[in-house]
Amino acid sequence: MKARTILDLSHGLDGRTPPFPGDPPIEITVVDSTARAAPPGQRSLNVSRIALSIHLGTHMDAPFHFYGDGLTIDRVPLEQCLGPAVLIDLARPTCDPEIQERHLEGHERRIREAGKVILRTGWDRRWGDPAYFREHPVITCQAARRLIEWGAHLVGVDTPSVDRPPYEAHLELLGHGAVILENLTGLDRIGSEVFQLAALPLRILGRDGSPVRAIAVVDAE
Ligand SMILES: [Zn+2]
Repeated sequence: MKARTILDLSHGLDGRTPPFPGDPPIEITVVDSTARAAPPGQRSLNVSRIALSIHLGTHMDAPFHFYGDGLTIDRVPLEQCLGPAVLIDLARPTCDPEIQERHLEGHERRIREAGKVILRTGWDRRWGDPAYFREHPVITCQAARRLIEWGAHLVGVDTPSVDRPPYEAHLELLGHGAVILENLTGLDRIGSEVFQLAALPLRILGRDGSPVRAIAVVDAE
């Protein structure tokens, strides 16, 4: 039997998880706690409430994020969230500031087969540093167009966003029904060009995205 490793590609969420600049901070409130004395005949439980921007931490953008008539996260087919993905490692020694068409060279066949593409830039090393949200590598419009041409239906990055205003990569990808994963981490541990990805969004009705627990399932050769 092949050895199988499951890797977590998600950042942790707590009160200090940095929001995208301009978004509200995450709030986690303890509603009840087993550390509290319960009234006679009752029992204290651990119960929490969480309030966060959909675009905080490791999350998925649905087409509706940029397009009023685009698919909302609950209507994104689950086939787009689970299955083989192609890892393109651009982190060595450091990623170029722009991910261009030339960075995708040699990956067309696998992208056409898998439909899911994860671009590793190594930028997740800056997580927790205020600079994380600035100067991160971006996907050019031309590279995004090429990914769509090759049939990509999911594009993931280890940066806070695939681009910056005027959001040409978001527009190209989401405008063609692809979903985007942002703030992935730990992609260096995958170690194979094709792996099984699972990144399931919560079934939030009618909205623009969702936090996800992104994982890689890697079979040892
Ligand atoms: Zn987002």
